[in-house]
Amino acid sequence: MNTIDYNELQKIIEINSWTGNKEGVDQTGTLFASWMEALGMKCIRHERVHVGDHLHFVSPKKEGKKLLLLGHMDTVFPPETFELFREEEAWIYGPGVCDMKGGNHVALQALRMIHHRHGEICNIDLLLVSDEETGSDDSKALSAELAPSYDYCMVFEAAGSKGEIVTGRKGAGTFFIEITGKAAHAGNHYSDGADANLEAAIKLQKLVTLTDLEKQTTVNVGKIEGGLGANTISPEAKLVFELRYTDKGERDRVLEAIDQIVHTSYVTGTSATLSGGIQRDVMQPSEAQADWIARINTLCDTTLPTEQRGGVSDANFIAAAGTIVTDGWGAFGDGDHTVYERASKQSFDERIALVTEIFEHHIAGRL
Ligand SMILES: [Zn+2]
Repeated sequence: MNTIDYNELQKIIEINSWTGNKEGVDQTGTLFASWMEALGMKCIRHERVHVGDHLHFVSPKKEGKKLLLLGHMDTVFPPETFELFREEEAWIYGPGVCDMKGGNHVALQALRMIHHRHGEICNIDLLLVSDEETGSDDSKALSAELAPSYDYCMVFEAAGSKGEIVTGRKGAGTFFIEITGKAAHAGNHYSDGADANLEAAIKLQKLVTLTDLEKQTTVNVGKIEGGLGANTISPEAKLVFELRYTDKGERDRVLEAIDQIVHTSYVTGTSATLSGGIQRDVMQPSEAQADWIARINTLCDTTLPTEQRGGVSDANFIAAAGTIVTDGWGAFGDGDHTVYERASKQSFDERIALVTEIFEHHIAGRL
C-alpha cells in the first residue's frame, strides 16, 4: 500500500531549489507552507536576502515535551542540470527525492495522519532551512538558537539501506594554510631563497600524520598550490585541508597540533598563517539519546537499527546545542548529489507509518 501522495512530491521536486536559486527555494517554501498551514501550523518566515527564507512551522503548545522536526529545502543541482521527476514500480527518481524533499514529505505525511486523527497537532514544530547543501552558513545560527527550546529533534535526511536512523555524525572543518617564503633564482642565488613549497610539503606530511584511523579521525590535504616555475625558489604556497572526527577529545588534539604545525617554520625564512575552522561540530551518541530510542523500540514494538555516519548534516548543530537529536528519519534512497538520485517507495510507506506512531506517542506524553 502506498500512502504517499506522489503528486505533491512531484510538484515540489519539479521546482528547482538549488541553494543558489533563492527564488526557487522560496517557491518550494511557499508551496510547503500551504500544506503545513492547512494543518493549523503557523509559519514564521525568517527572511533572507542572499539565500532562501528559512521557515519555522509552529504548532500550539501544551504541557509536555517539545519535538522539533528538521529538514532542508535546497538541493545541490543548479537549474537545468537535473530536473526530472520519474516514477517506477519501486523507485522514485528526482533531485532531492532522498536528500531531502522526500524526507520533508515523510514528516508532512505523518503530521497529516496526526491531524486527521485528532483534528490538531501540538508540541511538534518543523524547521525547514534553505542552505544546508552549502554548509548552513546562514541557518546554523537559527538552528542553534531554536534547539534549546526543544527536548528532542528528528532530522529527516535519508534513512540507511536497512532503515537505520543516525545516532552520530562526524564533526568536520576546513582549513587553509598560506605560506610565505622568499623568491630567488634557483641557479644564481639558491641560498638566498626560502622555499615555500618545501615548507608546504613538510607541513602536509605532518598534517596527514595526525590521522588516526582507529579513532576515525582523518586529516586530508586535498589541495596544494605553490611556486612560480622550475627556476625560481617558491615564494608562496597554500594548503587546503579537511579534518573529520567522531570525538571532541580528538578534535582538541588535532586543533592543537595544527596550530603548532602552522607556527613552526621547518624551512628557515618561511612563515605561515591559518584560516578556516570547524564548520560542524561532532554529533556524538549519548545516553539520553539511547534512552529515547529504547522507549520508541518498546512503544512501537520494533528494534530500530542505528548507524553513525561520516557525513555531516544540520543534526550536528542541534547536537552541539545539547538537544537530544537523531537523524535519518527520511525514506531510504541512494545516488544523492548525482543525477541518479532515487528513493524507495516501500521505504516511504514504512517511514511514514513509523514516524506517525512516534508522533502519537510523543503527543500522548509517552516519549
Ligand atoms: Zn545533501
